[in-house]
Amino acid sequence: MSLGLEGKNVLVTGGSRGIGRGIVHALATAGANVAAVYRTRSEAVDQLERELKEIGGKSTLIQADVSDSAAVEQMFAEYAEFADTVDVLVNNAGTISHIPFQELTEAEWRRVLDTNLTAPFLVSQRAIPLIPAGGSIINIGSKLARVGLPLRTHYIASKAGMEGLNRSLAKELGPKQIRVNLVAPGVIETEAVTDPKVLAAMREKYSNLTALGRLGQTDDVAGVVLFLASDLSKYMTGEIVTVDGGI
Ligand code: NDP
Repeated sequence: MSLGLEGKNVLVTGGSRGIGRGIVHALATAGANVAAVYRTRSEAVDQLERELKEIGGKSTLIQADVSDSAAVEQMFAEYAEFADTVDVLVNNAGTISHIPFQELTEAEWRRVLDTNLTAPFLVSQRAIPLIPAGGSIINIGSKLARVGLPLRTHYIASKAGMEGLNRSLAKELGPKQIRVNLVAPGVIETEAVTDPKVLAAMREKYSNLTALGRLGQTDDVAGVVLFLASDLSKYMTGEIVTVDGGI
């Protein structure tokens, strides 16, 4: 079954690694024209470029730190050469650190909030004039936003803020027929964890907490993003879709 994403112009932040990379792959494979935003040029970005060429279709890679408003402006200037609409925006770029609250510096608080909450504000605000009726914004939040855990106060505050942004923006953009939804992943394995011992410990710690008995993979999240990007979800907006294997 076609998802109707062929030829749709999509912009994915944090597309070079992890969940974002999985989302870029899934959208490109579904026939969308994908602009993947990366921050750091790395072997992973070169490889993604080769993979997108293999998938075929129209794609581009744009370098930008999405927490920096000047960089976001420049990113959209480059994007304008790729496409004149953003049919789907995926605010995926994110960052985390594990620090006791009393040791959290203002700089680290701001770094995490800037990346996880201010960046979706900056990018969405700039993208909205380019989103046509029927288009959508998909925010990648976190299951943790509704759980609360020590050492991640700043991260969880940022993701809870994103949920508020998601709900309110959905109301504001509804009359324009633009949908806004959020995917809240649980524990997802990404290539960031390369040490087999760390990976084994992570699997042991979290797999048993899930009903499905395993950690999530990037394609588990990407599948839900495809659904939210497509007209299959055309009457859903302001939603939070949890993808956590039933924790
Ligand atoms: P990764 O650390 O594997 O990848 C993060 C991506 O975001 C990288 O491409 C990174 O680029 C990019 N990025 C980070 N900061 C910026 C910035 N300022 N400007 C542009 N790009 C940036 O993360 P995940 O794939 O694990 O996470 C993706 C999203 O999913 C995040 O929002 C995260 O909070 C959320 N999430 C992840 C979970 C998980 O278990 N993995 C669980 C719940 C939510 P660079 O290569 O330059 O660092």
